[in-house]
Amino acid sequence: MSIDKLIANVIRADVRAIGAYVVPDASGYIKLDAMENPYELPEHLRTELGQRLADAVLNRYPTGSYATLKDKVKNKLGIPAGYDVMLGNGSDELIQIVTTTVANQERRASVLAPVPAFVMYSRSAQFAGADFVGVKLKPDFTLDMDAMLAAIALHRPAVVFLAYPNNPTGNLFAVEDIEAILQAQGEHGLVVLDEAYQPFARKTFMDRLGDFENLVVMRTVSKLGLAGIRLGYMTAAPALLDEFEKVRPPYNVNVLTQVAAEFVLEHVDVLDAQAASINAERERLSAELAALPGVEVFTSAANFISLRVPDAADVCAKLYDAKVLIRNLSKMHGMLANCIRVTVSTPEENSAFLNALKAALTPA
Ligand code: PMP
Repeated sequence: MSIDKLIANVIRADVRAIGAYVVPDASGYIKLDAMENPYELPEHLRTELGQRLADAVLNRYPTGSYATLKDKVKNKLGIPAGYDVMLGNGSDELIQIVTTTVANQERRASVLAPVPAFVMYSRSAQFAGADFVGVKLKPDFTLDMDAMLAAIALHRPAVVFLAYPNNPTGNLFAVEDIEAILQAQGEHGLVVLDEAYQPFARKTFMDRLGDFENLVVMRTVSKLGLAGIRLGYMTAAPALLDEFEKVRPPYNVNVLTQVAAEFVLEHVDVLDAQAASINAERERLSAELAALPGVEVFTSAANFISLRVPDAADVCAKLYDAKVLIRNLSKMHGMLANCIRVTVSTPEENSAFLNALKAALTPA
């Protein structure tokens, strides 16, 4: 038997044609490529968390309703009264659930997002059997509303994903543009506001759920400081959430995540304070980067900064040699030629990045 023939017979052609989502090994590196919070929990909280985890019941499935965890998420993370939440194994899973709920190979639907955008929108659309429509942002990374509204009228997308702020560009789209998209979608389609970076941007559409029944607000605890536990959550009109619930795999949030999140959310002020210091560092780092010759810095409301350098491949290679991991955005989209993205970290790591960047930009 030939394994190649087996794969050709069994695996979808579009899956065979792509590569896996690559996560580089970061051991020994200053890791500034994945928008993680660099701070760990304080020692006393880690000790207490250890006790809670030791008491976790591991021989049983998680409680089906996740009622306690959902209550904590609702009370501690700003869900409006009267709205329930749905939990996911990271918001990546929620993105997948949304696209799967609207499309499959038989019922081809369109999923639309401005591009460059978070890569999971197009990947999830593809795996769900949906057509992905990318609408180019303007050169200043604002929404091209003429193009957006024309694409919505043409494709009637089942879902529009808008990251607020956008990854990888870091900017917040204009509120009136988002409102116009919600209006244009109307009862024909959803608008998912992906607020992964809300802890830093402090801007939200959560309080607009009552105005737009087609609005879904999605968030994650990853950027807040809990990337390791994999927990995302989303809210929408209750009847809509009920439909998504049918597609959610049972027990998708494991007991260890459940226990850890329930405990840490009692101390969410610690994470909020970390986010505030990351925001202060973002301002310092942006200013220092902007002062470097040949560098164009894009304004960010998130915990990362994107910038254009003379030669992104060269800069990334030199930073890699200096043990600093950042992301080269050049291959992601033509608009991002020679752009790189760096996560805002501790003052020490940010300075290490700055120094390595300055050295990389200095002609030999
Ligand atoms: N949405 C956006 C815009 C993101 O940038 C990311 C992570 N890079 C995610 C969602 C996924 O987050 P999670 O860790 O919750 O899967």
